[in-house]
Amino acid sequence: MIRFLIFLILAYAAFRVVKAVVWPKEKIIRGPDGGVIDEMVQDPYCKTYIPKREAVRKIIGGETYSFCSEECAKKFESQKGS
Ligand SMILES: [Zn+2]
Repeated sequence: MIRFLIFLILAYAAFRVVKAVVWPKEKIIRGPDGGVIDEMVQDPYCKTYIPKREAVRKIIGGETYSFCSEECAKKFESQKGS
């Protein structure tokens, strides 16, 4: 019985470690605010609203922007100059 309890504690600890390692990756894929699936973001180039999880994210000049497509990202970047 004690062995079983120790196993449970270890399993829980392992679960927490795995969760801590896996979950932030998931967040990064889905968006910076914790993966709110239906949140909409605006493309700063064409002004279209797109679901955050489908947006093309680019870091331009130290700021993160969300675009509807790679094309808009490139156009916006060249428009910004730098
Ligand atoms: Zn666009």
